[in-house]
Amino acid sequence: MSAIYIHIPFCRTRCTYCDFFSGTNLQLKSQYIDALKKEISLRKKYLENRTIKTIYFGGGTPSLLSYDELSSIFETLKQNFDLSDCEEITLECNPDDLSESYVSQLKKLPINRLSIGVQSFNDKELRFVNRRHSAKQAIDVVRLCQKNGFNNISIDLIFGLPFQSLESFSANLNCLLELDVQHVSVYGLTIEDGTRIEQQCQQKLFVPTSEEESVLMYQKAIEVLTINGFEHYEISNFAKPKMRSKHNSSYWSGLYYLGVGSGAHSYNGVSRQWNVCNINQYCSLNDYFEVEHLLEVDVYNELIITNLRRLEGVDLEFLCQKFGNKYYSHCVKSAQRYLQNGLLEIKGNYLKLTSKGLLLSDTIIRDLMF
Ligand code: SF4
Repeated sequence: MSAIYIHIPFCRTRCTYCDFFSGTNLQLKSQYIDALKKEISLRKKYLENRTIKTIYFGGGTPSLLSYDELSSIFETLKQNFDLSDCEEITLECNPDDLSESYVSQLKKLPINRLSIGVQSFNDKELRFVNRRHSAKQAIDVVRLCQKNGFNNISIDLIFGLPFQSLESFSANLNCLLELDVQHVSVYGLTIEDGTRIEQQCQQKLFVPTSEEESVLMYQKAIEVLTINGFEHYEISNFAKPKMRSKHNSSYWSGLYYLGVGSGAHSYNGVSRQWNVCNINQYCSLNDYFEVEHLLEVDVYNELIITNLRRLEGVDLEFLCQKFGNKYYSHCVKSAQRYLQNGLLEIKGNYLKLTSKGLLLSDTIIRDLMF
């Protein structure tokens, strides 16, 4: 099994908190799509003999691509890969792109899952971080997508936004529940270096959410979503039964994936490859990627990072078989103090974070790495 990721590094405007790789010069879009299609053909052997189960258009803003542009990418994919067993094709969308005519066009493509970047249902919060849509617009487009037959929709929400309180975040969760979507990704705001929100913070235009408030918001998300039938299957992800993201689950399970486009990463079990974060250089398809051959320790660390984030945790029996006693002992020894203070637990063969441990996952994961 394997997955394909397609990166679309364009946005109409920049959100103040964002440090993802994307640009606002949309004039480069058609040149970029030509290069993307060439790269798909060049790399058709990367996943040879593996069944492609999922495709994911991420960004940036993939919903900036027109119906014709998306169709032409699908045409190229079909010419180079067997997509007959592909089960999930996701398009990341921004609410302001989802007009009535665009949504009905999307329905004619093989896309069967939409991941909509709502972030908040509060206009003040949205405006301050320079999102281009209003709360009403987000609600209307989710309903429009549902009316057009999309029955696998994920919504992204952020907690810890400027001016957000526990009450306003709870109101966001209630709004989301009314929309009856299948999947939710909930992220805490981080103020990254070099972003506009960092400047706004330095200029004291808002008071950042405290660590304690952030924890309360995250706990509120877990409580409200799980009571309402969502399974908390990964640190930031919640799904209705049988509606987990297959694409993201394949990353977390260590399956092979091909990433095409500027800034995209690929993994084939022995090496990791990443394309340059520079649209012009990428478009030349010259000297456009770097490869790192993975050592055993890298593969072990990757397994700890990805598997501890999942609800199931790390399969200790598998870890021992794959990496031998040296890494197994390191893992179990490093886990001891967290097992004693209730941040980790062992269920069957699996070492997993407890609900208390979820709040300190970064530290615990770091300690279990080799
Ligand atoms: S739309 Fe997404 S990728 Fe683009 S600037 Fe906003 S958060 Fe970043």
